[in-house]
Amino acid sequence: MKAFENLELWWITGAQLLYGGDAVIAVDAHSKEMVDGLNNSGRLPIKVVYKGTANSSREVEDLMSAASNEKKCVGVITWMHTFSPAKMWIHGLQKLTKPLLHLHTQYNAEIPWDTMDMDFMNLNQSAHGDREFGHICARMRVRRKVVVGYWKDEKTQDRIAVWSRVAAGWADAQDMLILRFGDQMNNVAVTDGDKVEAEVRMGYHVDYCPVSKLMEYYKKVEDAEVKELMKEYFTLYAHDAALETEGTEGYKSVFEAAKAELALRAILKDTGAKGFTTNFDDLGTHDINDPKFVGFNQIPGLASQRLMAEGYGFGAEGDWKSAALYRTVWYMTQGLPTGCSFLEDYTLNFDGKNSSILQAHMLEVCPLIAEERPRLEVHFLGIGIRKAQTARLVFTSKPGNGVTATVVDLGNRFRLIVNDVECIKSKPLPKLPVASALWIPMPNFEIGAGAWILAGGTHHSCFSYDITPEYWEDYAEMAGIEMVHIDKDSTMASIKKDLQMGEVYYMLNKSLC
Ligand code: MN
Repeated sequence: MKAFENLELWWITGAQLLYGGDAVIAVDAHSKEMVDGLNNSGRLPIKVVYKGTANSSREVEDLMSAASNEKKCVGVITWMHTFSPAKMWIHGLQKLTKPLLHLHTQYNAEIPWDTMDMDFMNLNQSAHGDREFGHICARMRVRRKVVVGYWKDEKTQDRIAVWSRVAAGWADAQDMLILRFGDQMNNVAVTDGDKVEAEVRMGYHVDYCPVSKLMEYYKKVEDAEVKELMKEYFTLYAHDAALETEGTEGYKSVFEAAKAELALRAILKDTGAKGFTTNFDDLGTHDINDPKFVGFNQIPGLASQRLMAEGYGFGAEGDWKSAALYRTVWYMTQGLPTGCSFLEDYTLNFDGKNSSILQAHMLEVCPLIAEERPRLEVHFLGIGIRKAQTARLVFTSKPGNGVTATVVDLGNRFRLIVNDVECIKSKPLPKLPVASALWIPMPNFEIGAGAWILAGGTHHSCFSYDITPEYWEDYAEMAGIEMVHIDKDSTMASIKKDLQMGEVYYMLNKSLC
């Protein structure tokens, strides 16, 4: 199925009857042409549905109520062709629960200096009409995105496209179940937080799922299914031929990994979960020394890598916020070319101007960011309750620019921290066989890492090559959460001011806390 194909954006044109029925008929035709133009541009990932002109308070309210109730509708685009008196938008805006994009554009591009008359003016009034609408949104503190530009310009269309993807991700998050297999890693603060408030603010529903329940699925996995999946691995990934030899240690580890993947996928499908977390201290039903022990031989790292590539959210060590945010990143970027992953700040590389941070994890890095064909390898992993030979995909990641993000709980609010990063050429790690990326955080290693730490950011983050900071600006606006953006222009002083302003802003805006 094509991504987003069942979703819609609703376009409502603000008008009024002051200029006569003929003017409204003409505006209606212009609006249709503009919506068709956007849809035919090939630059919007979600189809725009024209919902007509709204000429009265009642019409606005009916359309906004319908948009809020229609599951397919993930956002509303408004454009005021005329001076649509904004008191008529009050009740409708009160009813609107979907993201709003206010497009400030005009049917006509350049002023026809020699021929312009009052009839032309009656049809091209958004210069003042959109300001009247902007005022009522500001007065009512309606969270929205304002896009300014000619509707035929690619730049304008691309900004609408970004918001469309975020609106789709936002809708997806409002119906998001994250399963936690086991609890948070004991004593860890930054990946924990208020799950009730996370559901209120961002939509995530986070449930505990006993590993024993997962083991019920694990027990039911048939050997034949496992062998089928192993064939897929051996086709997709580079590997030593010895892994294919039944009876060897390597074969057994790959078999275990495939069985874990099938069990995990089955329970995620059954529950409708969109993401999950694991914990290396909770892998089975009983005492691991009991001969009747049923459980994974190690954390299901290969399964997590592959399920992430399929779009399931993943967070290691019980990190449900990263699992949810990764799912949103994957969902928003469907169809874009370069990939995304959950990552951890692993170790530092002090190298002057090229100082960088190795991004990796014990096992769980998504192969969507791999530079070359991933290699399936089996190595000993000695961390966690069970120490065993464990399968994983090993690769280094593509060079290129990207954006990484995390959400932390500050007690009175959530803070989204976003950092532009430059992935540079990484090197193989023969003695540490894990997948990795290597990046320089913007504006440089010292300020990038320093600002992230000052803002209280996690060691886990959700990275994508395909998104720009504008995605996260739109997301933070929809969620009504704080965003701290560390980019090429950031200084420690500017970030410190941002953080101080955030403290004051959220102290005063109790409705956002
Ligand atoms: Mn970790």
